[in-house]
Amino acid sequence: MRVAVRARSRYPAWIMNERYDALSLFSGGLDSLLAHKLIQRQGLRVLGLHFVSPFFGKPHLLDHWRATYGVDVVPVDVGEAYVRMLERGPAHGLGSALNPCVDCKILMLAHAKTLLAQHGARFLVSGEVVGQRPMSQRRDALNAIRRDADVKNLLLRPLSALVLEPTPMEESGLVDRSRLLNAAGRGRAKQLALAAEMGITEIPTPGGGCRLTEKEPSARYAPIFRHRPSPSAHDFLLANTGRQFWSGPHWLAVGRDQADNERLAALVREDDIVLDLSELPSPLAVLRLHPDARGTVQEDALVADAAAFAASYSPKARRAGGPVRVDVTRGGQTRVIEVSPSRNTPANWREPTWAEAEAWKKERAPVA
Ligand code: SF4
Repeated sequence: MRVAVRARSRYPAWIMNERYDALSLFSGGLDSLLAHKLIQRQGLRVLGLHFVSPFFGKPHLLDHWRATYGVDVVPVDVGEAYVRMLERGPAHGLGSALNPCVDCKILMLAHAKTLLAQHGARFLVSGEVVGQRPMSQRRDALNAIRRDADVKNLLLRPLSALVLEPTPMEESGLVDRSRLLNAAGRGRAKQLALAAEMGITEIPTPGGGCRLTEKEPSARYAPIFRHRPSPSAHDFLLANTGRQFWSGPHWLAVGRDQADNERLAALVREDDIVLDLSELPSPLAVLRLHPDARGTVQEDALVADAAAFAASYSPKARRAGGPVRVDVTRGGQTRVIEVSPSRNTPANWREPTWAEAEAWKKERAPVA
């Protein structure tokens, strides 16, 4: 199986005129940093690729990493390609939550390969360690990743190089194999010793903060795959924000605080309906109806229902003890309706649960 990947990359201008020998998968974790530095200290130029999607990525730390670790690193947005992969169902299955770790690595490496020529680079570097993680770093999984990403002769894993077959980069002398590592298994002693030897005093904390490995965020994502036709990366950004509720295929996001309200406001799309109390402080709510409901008689009832439910999250609206006015905005047009705040509305808005996500997972993909 070969994967084709198309994704957007937003590069800083300075990078366009630079030339590199290698591109590294740079998550910001210790292993990716050490792998990058092991090649860099052989006198080769390495550009780190920091992959970003609604599920992972810390692009706000790029400047910090550049300054702290002396690495060149750029963000690479694979959000849309990633959502397409999850929607299709990852060929190598999902982990304990909705994490498709093997397919994730395949997607990143396949995409990194497409960037080699643009940077004049000849090979790829990753911080994978044989046997460190049960799903994606078993020896057979490492082989499958290399094969399915079509990077067999291009990928060097410096931390485990001495327990793996020599790569063409080592055989040709481009990389000095004797200066690579023999790390294997879950222990981190060798990595920590190497970090100390390299003078790395700020050790990144383990775990990349991938939301797909956690059940609470994964519960937010499953209804999107179940109900939204052709979901986009943008849908998952909305799922990351505020309280989440679903009524069948209809979706309501409600801000928990001012920061949520601002994030929600920035995520509103043309077809979304924004609900905001006219005269009282309230959380912002974004109603994303299933497309089939738009323009039907059901739509007005759903809007009023969602407005009553969202208003119940305003303490002042609840204390008012009667109907409140709500601004209903779509596509720049606002009208005002009156509703009585209530958590028990006919639409029965409910927070998505991990049990529902697990049921979707069993329907859609084999467990790895
Ligand atoms: S934990 Fe997340 S980012 Fe890391 S390999 Fe798995 S799916 Fe990809």
